[in-house]
Amino acid sequence: MSQEGQLKIDLVIPVYNEAGVVEQTYATIANAIDCLPYKFTIYYIDDGSQDSTVDSLNALAGRDPRIIVLEFARNFGHQAALTAGLDASNGDFVISLDGDGQHPPEMIPQMIALFEQGYDIVQTQRIEEGQGLSFKQLTSSGFYKLIKTISGTRMEPGAADFRGLSRQAVEALKSMPEYHRFLRGMISWMGYRSVILPYHETSRVAGKSKYSFGKMFRLAMDAIFSFSLMPLYLGMTAGGILLCLAAGQILYVLSFWLTGRSSELVPGWSSLMSVMLVIGGMVMILLGFIGVYVGYIFQEVKRRPVYLLKKREK
Ligand code: UDP
Ligand code: MG
Repeated sequence: MSQEGQLKIDLVIPVYNEAGVVEQTYATIANAIDCLPYKFTIYYIDDGSQDSTVDSLNALAGRDPRIIVLEFARNFGHQAALTAGLDASNGDFVISLDGDGQHPPEMIPQMIALFEQGYDIVQTQRIEEGQGLSFKQLTSSGFYKLIKTISGTRMEPGAADFRGLSRQAVEALKSMPEYHRFLRGMISWMGYRSVILPYHETSRVAGKSKYSFGKMFRLAMDAIFSFSLMPLYLGMTAGGILLCLAAGQILYVLSFWLTGRSSELVPGWSSLMSVMLVIGGMVMILLGFIGVYVGYIFQEVKRRPVYLLKKREK
């Protein structure tokens, strides 16, 4: 806590090419927090934007001394930007929210109240408006079903990167230096006293989603391969079943030889080929899974930083 005994609350806001949006979302955030009796610091992390986002952020920082701008050397991604904000923060309670206006800042007082009641993690959960009609909603709900089944970690569907973390939870997260970061999963994995707060997501203030299909796919891969060994087991199980089938076939062929009916055996070129192909295919799939894990291990052992800062304002 700060000297006056006031709670210190930090906001962490990653932005990537949001020049047309930051002014407006800042205004709604300021509107929501100005009247609150806490000491706020707002960390804006510019994730290597190519437009004038940084200029807008610096202009805001010039007007509002609560704002600190962190600038990435290039686009390292949303999860890395959130990580940088959490690393830089030093408040008692740290709230992360998107810079596109989709995470209502009006919920901040409620989140702080829950923290004051003793919760370490105040996780929001998006309530879907239409019943899974858009591509994003469909892929998101399918993804959460999959990850719930294959990982031992409980993850709520619609859990957004809009949450509040106590200092203890932030420090715990900082002790997890992994490169492939799926923060939602890492936070569920930590445990701690947590509470789920439902919210309705509004549409973007302006601009379009910066989570391209490729970025969504990579996030899903990070979640699956860093939270589960299930793909390896699946490959191994399929391989085992195929080996049993192959053993059965060998016994079947042998039975013809042992009973002197070998002449009845039609040269089974096609069936042999198909078995070989199936087994070959399975081996390739399994090798692929192993390859991905080896790749992940490779990237983890390099211990590369998750992000690089260009400079630090103020
Ligand atoms: N974002 C980022 N780096 C990226 C992609 C997105 O910092 O590589 C930011 C973006 O500016 C926004 C937040 O992360 O503040 C969420 O992104 P977006 O709104 O595009 O995702 P969606 O809401 O469509 O899932
Ligand atoms: Mg958004």
